[in-house]
Amino acid sequence: MSEIIRLSAADLAAKLAAGEVSSMEATQAHLDRIAAVDGDVHAFLHVSDTALQAAADIDRRRAAGESLGELAGVPLAVKDVLVTTDMPSTSGSKILEGYMSPYDATVVARSRAAGLIPLGKTNMDEFAMGSSTEHSAYGPTRNPWDLDRIPGGSGGGSAAAVAAFEAPLALGSDTGGSIRQPAHVTGTVGMKPTYGGVSRYGAIALASSLDQVGPVSRTVLDSALLHDVIGGHDPNDATSLTDRWPSFAAAAREGASGQVLKGLKVGVIRELPDSGFQAGVSASFRAALATMEAQGAEIVEISAPHFEYGVAAYYLILPAEASSNLAKFDSVRFGLRVDVPGGTVEDVMAATRDAGFGDEVKRRVILGTYALSAGYYDAYYGSAQKVRTLIQRDFDTAFAQVDVIATPSAPTTAFRLGEKIDDPLQMYLNDVTTIPVNLAGVPGISIPSGLAAEDGLPVGIQFIAPAREDARLYRVGAAVEALLLDEWGEPLLAKAPVLGGAR
Ligand code: GLN
Repeated sequence: MSEIIRLSAADLAAKLAAGEVSSMEATQAHLDRIAAVDGDVHAFLHVSDTALQAAADIDRRRAAGESLGELAGVPLAVKDVLVTTDMPSTSGSKILEGYMSPYDATVVARSRAAGLIPLGKTNMDEFAMGSSTEHSAYGPTRNPWDLDRIPGGSGGGSAAAVAAFEAPLALGSDTGGSIRQPAHVTGTVGMKPTYGGVSRYGAIALASSLDQVGPVSRTVLDSALLHDVIGGHDPNDATSLTDRWPSFAAAAREGASGQVLKGLKVGVIRELPDSGFQAGVSASFRAALATMEAQGAEIVEISAPHFEYGVAAYYLILPAEASSNLAKFDSVRFGLRVDVPGGTVEDVMAATRDAGFGDEVKRRVILGTYALSAGYYDAYYGSAQKVRTLIQRDFDTAFAQVDVIATPSAPTTAFRLGEKIDDPLQMYLNDVTTIPVNLAGVPGISIPSGLAAEDGLPVGIQFIAPAREDARLYRVGAAVEALLLDEWGEPLLAKAPVLGGAR
């Protein structure tokens, strides 16, 4: 395997800046890797045919002495929920097959402007609904750790691409866990920023009050570097915060080198039941906490009594918003149209949506329409919004006592393909610890905490901070990452079986 693809984005960027590697070489190495392994992994729905051209352009500009962004020349995988002008954007759905956007999502435009090289579009559950990528209309992605297992979802493609060394960095979106849960099951890092911290303009909406775009990578610093590129105010997104953000990369670098764990108060949630969590997940979580404690962190039990109602509230709020957002796929404005000879407009719409949407999308559109219907609105949607407020208050109370909250990032390691696809509730419960974070709008990061003893598969630990304290997560995440790396002696991904040999 080419050494280039093993490099972190930060290390590759340093070599690019030093002229030791060209962006053409780096991009070609990743395209070669995609050609070699993506037949098995299926992380990509589309591979760019202009990536090498973009890389050549960066090399030329660098040679001309232009001052370039830190990540200039580094390849990037882009979740297919983000629209792009030079590649189709399908959001994993048949209804958008071949759809070409007239504009780039802000995060894509900012990545290009910073010199990153989009390699392709990554697979995902249809319209980001799912936890396994099995709901993609284009077939599932497989976990590079074990090709019979799921890579998480909805952003399984982005996580698998990064875990399989097909890309050093990826963009994801997280509405209830779609960046963090795939990170957990693939041994990668995923960050869901503060709501409003990263532009949603050009992210095909699932649930607008929950959606957030964020970075996926193999190291905390790499996510921070990408977050620095994509974050910040965007006038095209009405919910975009106008804050001036600190450098997240600086925070990550400070965390990795410094003493940030000394005196850090880490909250663990009393009400989070141990049952429901795989033994190896709980064990890895507790071991990571012990490692932090040994460095002077203080583990504090906190109460978040409404945390466990997150999933129930989410599955009313999300379908309600999704049913409204997906109304625009009406056979007229975007993508697929199924003609019904002699039929009415309604007939065409119904036939198109019937043919274009998969089962999970239909399930949620029906659920959402029902929850919003007159007579039921207060009982369902209204009640769920009240629960959402209670969860937000739980976080407010907790953050008066602690600096960060820690949870396992998901209840189990990667399950087998097909195992939960026919049981929506089991699928939904994957996000029991990630969903409350979206409901509260606060940031959350998942970093690898180790391998589960019983199956040797990766486990992630999630850190949650108050809104706007994204930098704190990079600081703490990088500190814990550095400590665990010391314990392991090599990155977790070096142990991934499928990646060891030259495939
Ligand atoms: N798995 C969750 C769902 O199916 C989260 C999805 C997401 O974050 N986009 O809704």
